Amino acid sequence: MADVFMNTYHRLPVTFVSGEGAWLRDGAGKKYLDFTAGIAVNCLGHAYPPLVKAISEQAAKFNHVCNYYQSDVAEAFAEKLVAACAPVGMRKVFLGNSGAEANEGACKIARKYSLKNYGPRRHTIVSLKGSFHGRTITTLSATGQERFHRDFGPFTEGFRFIPPGDLEALDRALAPASVAGLLLEAIQGESGIFPLAPPYIAAAAKFCAERDILLMFDEIQCGVGRTGTFLACEAYGVKADLITLAKGLSGGVPVGAVLAGEKAADVFAVSDHGSTFGGNPLAAAAGLVVLETVQAPHFLSELVRKGERFRKVLTSWQHPKIREIRGQGLMIGVDITTEAWPVLERALAAGLLILSAGTHTLRFLPPYTITDAEIDQGLALLKGILDKS
Ligand SMILES: *Cc1c(COP(=O)(O)O)cnc(C)c1O
Repeated sequence: MADVFMNTYHRLPVTFVSGEGAWLRDGAGKKYLDFTAGIAVNCLGHAYPPLVKAISEQAAKFNHVCNYYQSDVAEAFAEKLVAACAPVGMRKVFLGNSGAEANEGACKIARKYSLKNYGPRRHTIVSLKGSFHGRTITTLSATGQERFHRDFGPFTEGFRFIPPGDLEALDRALAPASVAGLLLEAIQGESGIFPLAPPYIAAAAKFCAERDILLMFDEIQCGVGRTGTFLACEAYGVKADLITLAKGLSGGVPVGAVLAGEKAADVFAVSDHGSTFGGNPLAAAAGLVVLETVQAPHFLSELVRKGERFRKVLTSWQHPKIREIRGQGLMIGVDITTEAWPVLERALAAGLLILSAGTHTLRFLPPYTITDAEIDQGLALLKGILDKS
C-alpha cells in the first residue's frame, strides 16, 4: 500500500482494480462481493452500463463550465432532483460536491433566514448526539460525537446537541428566541443505523413549524431511495425546510445538494454562496441516470423486497451472536455481541465487503442492483464467519 497518503483511514489490505455490478476485483483477480457500495455511494453498482454511457458521452462534450454560465445537463438534473424532493416540500436546489459542503450550505441558509427575520443572536443549530454531519470544522461542530471533537478546536459557535428520542429535551432545546435550525438524520448512519421514532420526528416537525425554526434533514446516507422512499423523511409524512444529499446521488461521481422548501428557497442572494465544481456536468449526467433509475416503476418496491430478504435470512439463523437488526430498505445495521471490526476483516479475506458502524454494529449498504442470489451468497459467507468467530 502506497505510504504517500496521509494517515487518515484505517485501511484494509486490498487494492481494487475493477468492478462490475455488486463485485470488485483486486490485482490478483480475486473477486469481492460488495455490501458497502462505497458507503452508500455506488447505488447502481460498479460499471453500470447506462451510467458509464452517460458519463462518457458527457466527457466527450465538456467536463465543466463555470457557474457564470449554465449547462443543459445541470439544468435537467436540478429540475429532476427538485421534482423528486417535492413530496416533502422542496422547491429549489444548490449543487455542490460533498456531504459536508451540503450541510455547510444548509447551516448558512438557516442562519441567514433567522437573521433576516429575527435579527442577530438567533443562530443556534440543534443536532443530535450520535449524529454525523461531516469533517469540516463547522460540520464537525454539528456532529454530536465527542470522538470527532478531539484536537481540532476551536469549533464554530452556536451548535448544541440533544439526546435522540427525548421529547422533553427537544422541546426545551428548541427555544424560539435563540434557535435557527434543527438538523437531523432520519436514520443515523455512521453511529450504528439508528432510525428516529416517528413520534419524535412528528414532534420535531411540529415544534419547528410553530417556532419558525428550520427543519433540516441530513439525508446524505439515507436518501436517494436507499430506505425505499426517495427521501427517508418522506416515510414519516412530514414536510422539511432543508434537505441535504450527497453520497449516492450521482452513483459514484462526487456531488452534493442542498434542497430548500418555501421558507428557505430564496434566502441566498447572488454572491452569498458558491462552489467552483458545483453543478459539475459529469456529476449531473451521472445524477440524471440515478434519478431516472430509482424513479422507474417498481424499482424502489424491489429494493424494499431485497431489504426484507436480508432481514428474513438474518433472522432465520437465530444466531446467538446477533443482538438486533435495525434499519430500513437497503440500509441495514446488525448489532453483534463481539466487536465488528474483526468480522469485517475476516469477511474481506473471505471475499465479502461489509462496513462497521460504531464498535459492535455490522453495516450493510449494498448497491440497489444487487441480486437475490448475491444477497444469499454474501450472507452465507457472513454466517460462516459469525459461526467461527
Ligand atoms: C457521509 C456523511 C456526511 C459527510 O459527507 P462527505 O461527502 O463525506 O462530506 C454527512 N452526513 C451524513 C449523514 C453522512 O453519512
